[in-house]
Amino acid sequence: MPMPGALDARDRSATLRRLAAGPLDVLVVGGGITGAGAALDAASRGLRVGLVESRDLAAGTSSRSSKLIHGGLRYLEQRDFKLVREALRERDLLVTRLAPHLVKPVPFLYPLYKKVVERPYVGAGLVIYDAMEGARRPVPYHRHLTQRGALRRAPGLRPERLAGAMIYYDAQVDDARHTITVARTAAAHGAIVVTGASATSLLRSDDGSRVIGARVLDKETDRSVNILAERVVVCAGVWTDLVHSLGDVQAGYQVRMSKGVHLVTPRSAIDANTGMIVRTEKSVLFFIPWGERWIVGTTDTEWSGERDEPVATSEDVDYILAAANRVLATPLTRTDVIGVYAGLRPLVAAAAQTPTTKLSREHVVDVPLPGLASIAGGKFTTYRLMARDVVDAAVADFPRPVPDSVTDQLPLLGADGFPAVRAAARRLAEDYGVPLAAVEHLLARYGSLTGEVLELVGADKSLGQPLLDGYPYLRAEVAYAVTHEGALHVEDVLARRIRLLIESPDAGVAAAPEVATIMGGLLGWGRRHRALEVRQYEQFAAANSEALQSPDSLLEAATPIPA
Ligand SMILES: Cc1cc2nc3c(=O)[nH]c(=O)nc-3n(C[C@H](O)[C@H](O)[C@H](O)COP(=O)(O)OP(=O)(O)OC[C@H]3O[C@@H](n4cnc5c(N)ncnc54)[C@H](O)[C@@H]3O)c2cc1C
Repeated sequence: MPMPGALDARDRSATLRRLAAGPLDVLVVGGGITGAGAALDAASRGLRVGLVESRDLAAGTSSRSSKLIHGGLRYLEQRDFKLVREALRERDLLVTRLAPHLVKPVPFLYPLYKKVVERPYVGAGLVIYDAMEGARRPVPYHRHLTQRGALRRAPGLRPERLAGAMIYYDAQVDDARHTITVARTAAAHGAIVVTGASATSLLRSDDGSRVIGARVLDKETDRSVNILAERVVVCAGVWTDLVHSLGDVQAGYQVRMSKGVHLVTPRSAIDANTGMIVRTEKSVLFFIPWGERWIVGTTDTEWSGERDEPVATSEDVDYILAAANRVLATPLTRTDVIGVYAGLRPLVAAAAQTPTTKLSREHVVDVPLPGLASIAGGKFTTYRLMARDVVDAAVADFPRPVPDSVTDQLPLLGADGFPAVRAAARRLAEDYGVPLAAVEHLLARYGSLTGEVLELVGADKSLGQPLLDGYPYLRAEVAYAVTHEGALHVEDVLARRIRLLIESPDAGVAAAPEVATIMGGLLGWGRRHRALEVRQYEQFAAANSEALQSPDSLLEAATPIPA
C-alpha cells in the first residue's frame, strides 16, 4: 500500500488498475490547479475520487502563471469587486493556514508619475483593496512613499518624472509546486491520481441520457480503459471545449485563450529590493522577485494556435523589454534574459470582439448533461472556491447526501507542523550532513515534509549533493520527485518539480543527463531510454527558448513614461 499522499511513479501501473477497478463517485479530468483542487475538495467530503491528467500535473497553464496569489489590483479598476474580495480572502487563508510553507507575502512598489492626479487615485484604490481584506490580516497595510523613499527601495527606477510611489502587499507561490502539493493532499485523502492518462471520450448510459464515466488512454502503454464514475468533472482549462466535444456535449459557455509571456532575468539586472508593478498602455507589468531572479511580465494577446506548447515570439520579448525599459534607469536587453515562458489563460467567452484584457477572470460552472459538470475561467488564487463550486454542482443530485466542502479547514501537505520543523533546521542540517542553506531551501519547498527528502539523503549520501553547481536544488529532490511527486519524465522534473527550465540560461539542459540517471535508477531505464529522455528534454527546452535567439533590438531607445 503506498504512503498516504505519496504519488510514487514506480507504482503507476497498480494505481491505474485501482482507478479502473472503480466505480468512482467522481472522476476529475485535468490535473491543473482546478482539477487538483476539485479532487481534494471531493475526496475530503468522503467521496471516492479519481483524477486523470493527460500529461503531467500543472503541465498546462498552472505552471506558467505570474505566480501571484493576489486580489488583483487591476480587477478593482474593472469594478470586479466580488472577485477581488474573494481572492483577498483566499490569499490570506493560504498564507496563514492552508499553505504557509508555499505562499509568501511579497511587497510591491507602484511608482507614481503624475504627481497631482495619480496619488489620490491609486491611493484610494489601495484603501479599498486593504479595506476589503479587513483588520485581521497577515500582510501589512499599504503605505505612501516620497520620490526619495521610492528610489531607496528601487534605485533602478529612472528618477526623472518619478513623483513618488505606493507600496502594498500581495503573495507569491511556485504555481507548479502548489498544484502538485494539492494533488498529493487529495491523494492523502484517498484520491487516485494518474498522470499521462488522457480522457479520449465520455461514456454515456445505454439510453444516452447521462455521462457515466470516461474512456482513458494510458499514454505510457498506449492502452485504453473505461473508468466508470457517478459524476465526471471537467477541469481542463483551455482544453475544456475539446473535452466537451469528446462527449458530443454542448456546454453553456466556451473558452477563449489569451497568451501571457514572462521573462526571467538575474536579480542583478534590476536594482530593487521589492516587487514592482507599473502601468502599461493595455494593462500592467509586474517585476516579481523570484529567489535569485526576477520574473517580468506579462503580455495579453488572443491565441488560437497549439494548446500544448504555447511559445513566446520575438515580438513578445521585445514588448516586455520595451515596457520594462520605460521605467528602468539601466535598460534590460536580451542578454539579460535567461528564461522565457508562455501560458494560456482560459477565459470564459464573451462576445467575439471583446479584447481578452477586458474579459472577466471570474469562473463559470455548468452541468451540460446529467452526470457531467465542468468549470472554466477563474484564476489560480481562487482555485479552492472554483473546486468547491464545481463539486457542489456535480453532487447537487447525488444518490446519497454529500457533506459541504471543508477545504477551508484543510492545511495542505507540508503545512501541519511547519513552524516546528523550521525551528529544527540547524539540527536537521547537522543530522544529515548538509548545509543549513540546503535545509532552508527544502523548507520553503516541502514545509514539514522536508524530513522525507532528507531521509533519502540519509540512505544515500550522494543525494545530498547539488544537482547543478550554482543552483540550490539537491539530487535528492529528483529522487523524491519520482517516489513522492509522480514524475515520469525528465521534463516533469526540470520544468515543474524544480524550475531549471526557466531559471537557468541553458533551460536546465546541463542537468538533464544527471536527472535521467537518478530517475532511470528508480524507474528501471536502460542506457537507451535515458538517452532518449535527455534528447526529448533538449528538444523541449530548445522550442521553449526559441524567442530569445533573435538579435538584440534597439530597446535602449524605448521612450520613458510620459509626464
Ligand atoms: C500568463 C498568465 C499569468 C497568470 N497569472 C496569474 C496569477 O499571478 N495569479 C492567479 O491567480 N492566476 C494567474 N493566472 C491564471 C491561472 O494561472 C489559471 O487560471 C490557472 O492556472 C488555470 O488552471 P486550470 O487547472 O483551470 O487549467 P490548466 O492548468 O491548464 O489545467 C488543465 C489540465 O487539463 C489537462 N487536460 C486537458 N485535456 C485533458 C484530457 N482530455 N484528459 C486529461 N487531462 C486533460 C491538461 O493537460 C492540463 O494540465 C495566469 C494565467 C496566465 C496564462
